[in-house]
Amino acid sequence: MARPPPCGYRHDLSGPVVSFAGVSFRYPSSGPVLRDVSLAIPPQSHTCIIGPNGGGKTTLLRLMLGQLTPEAGEIRVMGCPPHRACKHVGYVPQHTVLRRGFPITVGEVVLTGCIDRHWLGWHRPSCGADAEAVMAELQITDLRRRPFDQLSGGQRQRVLIARALVGNPSLLLLDEPTANIDPAVGRLVRDLLANLSRRLAVVTVSHDLDYLSTRLDRVFFVDHRLREVAPEAVTSEAVWQLFRHREPGAVS
Ligand code: ADP
Repeated sequence: MARPPPCGYRHDLSGPVVSFAGVSFRYPSSGPVLRDVSLAIPPQSHTCIIGPNGGGKTTLLRLMLGQLTPEAGEIRVMGCPPHRACKHVGYVPQHTVLRRGFPITVGEVVLTGCIDRHWLGWHRPSCGADAEAVMAELQITDLRRRPFDQLSGGQRQRVLIARALVGNPSLLLLDEPTANIDPAVGRLVRDLLANLSRRLAVVTVSHDLDYLSTRLDRVFFVDHRLREVAPEAVTSEAVWQLFRHREPGAVS
């Protein structure tokens, strides 16, 4: 029987895109940040992670990205250890590291999503066409030559999502994608992500309770421990109760 290709090349979507089993984590200088977290995120789904400040939401994303290693438990991303699956994961961080005034155009920002270690830091030859396709899908082709730092908050967010999508990921992780944009534009971004979740798994950390009105398949409340909430049961009263009854010993 032929052996499956090794992790890093394999693209196993027959099971959950992300699974955590009994995962606990702490930073060297902190108390426990996540305790005994188990979850499963299916392909082509839309998941929102909510919870109080300091509850461990960003840490959860960083574990999915393989930037952090759990102290206990097991994490699999597309059947592999997270750091071996990163080729198939797109990430939109909460804060861009681009300095204001840095001379880079929208098209160049999108192309940075293609940088592939196997090409010694250069992008793959097919990348130009991939970037064009993603810019067309996100309706930012007209912005291609504009300096990135001259865009509105909503335009920037579309460009950063395009950058994350250009490698054709199966999992898209976003940290607060509607922070710092007005409610109307926030709605466009939420609708865009809901549409994308028809073809890939979209996982969003959000403080924006409007996000919970979007079509969601999974809602996780993270306050050091994780609780799954049925999307249809997520009312503003239910969320308020979750925030009121914080995990004992929670610090933030
Ligand atoms: P959230 O995204 O829910 O606001 P975070 O995951 O950012 O929470 O942080 C969870 C806890 O871990 C917080 O108490 C925070 O201060 C702490 N923390 C986050 N990053 C670090 C770090 N690099 N070193 C030490 N503690 C950290």
